[in-house]
Amino acid sequence: MPETISILIDGRKVVAGKGDNLLKVARDNGFDIPGLCFYEKISATGDCRLCMVKIEGRPGMVPACLVEVEEGLRVTAFDEQLEATRKMLVDVLLSEHNDDCITCDRDGDCSIQDLAYRYGLDTEKRTFAPIWRQTPQFSDTTAPVLWYDSSKCIKCERCVKACREIQGKGVLSMSNRGIHSRVVAGLENWAASECDGCGECVQACPVGALVEKPVYGERMRLKNVQKKVVTTCPYCGVGCQLELWIKDNAIVKVKGADQPPNSGATCVKGRFGLDFVNHPDRLKKPLIRKEGKLVEAGWDEALDLVASRLKEIREEHGPGAIAGLSSAKCTNE
Ligand code: SF4
Ligand code: SF4
Repeated sequence: MPETISILIDGRKVVAGKGDNLLKVARDNGFDIPGLCFYEKISATGDCRLCMVKIEGRPGMVPACLVEVEEGLRVTAFDEQLEATRKMLVDVLLSEHNDDCITCDRDGDCSIQDLAYRYGLDTEKRTFAPIWRQTPQFSDTTAPVLWYDSSKCIKCERCVKACREIQGKGVLSMSNRGIHSRVVAGLENWAASECDGCGECVQACPVGALVEKPVYGERMRLKNVQKKVVTTCPYCGVGCQLELWIKDNAIVKVKGADQPPNSGATCVKGRFGLDFVNHPDRLKKPLIRKEGKLVEAGWDEALDLVASRLKEIREEHGPGAIAGLSSAKCTNE
C-alpha cells in the first residue's frame, strides 16, 4: 500500500497515494480536466498538453498526466488562463483533424468532438485553418478487421502504446515528423505486419482514426446502438468480460468490459469472433438422427437420449469406451 498523502486541488483537500498520477487523482475526485493522449491503462505520454495545471512553486503550466503527487502539492486545475490555453490547444488539434463527422463511424463517441462542444469550437468559431487539407493523407485498409485514416489521427500514440504495453506486441510505431507523422504497422502495412487483429489499438483510439471494419454486418455508429450488454466471452477459460453493442437484437460491435479479469482488453476471438451469434446457419436446437436424417428435437429429449446411450455403452463396453472432447465452441459442434 502506498503512503497516503493529501494535496489541494482548487482549494479542496484531496487524499491520494504518494506517487499516484495527478491527472487520475484529480479526475477520480471530480475535477474534469481534459486530456486526449492520457489513457489509464498505458504509461502517460504528455503529448496533447490539454491537462496543463499550475502547481505552486513550479514555473508555468505542467501537464498533470506527468506529475506524481506528493504531500502538500497545491494545484490549480481551473482558471481563466488554463481554460483559454486548453481551448487554443483544442483549436490547434482540430485544425489537424478531419472533422467530417457525417461520414465518421465515431460520431457521438469521439473525445475531440466532445471537446469541440465543450469549448464552443464550432467550425466558424475556430482560429486556425484546417491544415489537414493541405497535408498528404494516408490510409491503411489492409487489415481484415480495422482501418486507419491519418486525416483523423491526432498523433496521441495511444494505439502504439496499447499494442505494446497492454497486448505486449509492439506492432505499431509513429512514422515521419510533426504534421506529417502517422501510425504505421510493422514495416509496411497492417496486412504484412505481425498484427493478430486483437483490436486493442482501436479501443484505445480516442477519435475516428482507427475503427473496426464492419465485421458484424454494417458500419457502426454510437447513435445506431440500442443497448449494451456485458457478458462472458464464450471462447477460452479466462472468462473475459465483453461489452456487446446491440442493434435490432444483433451484435454490431464488441468492446472489452472494464472489469476483471481482463480490465477492458480482449483478444481477436472475443472482439471479432462473435459473428456466429447472429449467423443464419447457427444451430439453436438439438438435432437427433432419425432414420438417417437429422431432425430437430427438444433439449430434454436430446439429453435423455445422450444419457441413455452413454449408459448403454458403459454397460456394454466398460468406462474405457467413453471419451470426452472439448473446445472453445464445443456446445455448437
Ligand atoms: S490489432 Fe492488436 S496486435 Fe494489431 S496493431 Fe492493434 S493492438 Fe496491435
Ligand atoms: S490512430 Fe488514434 S490512437 Fe493512434 S495516434 Fe492516431 S488518434 Fe491516437
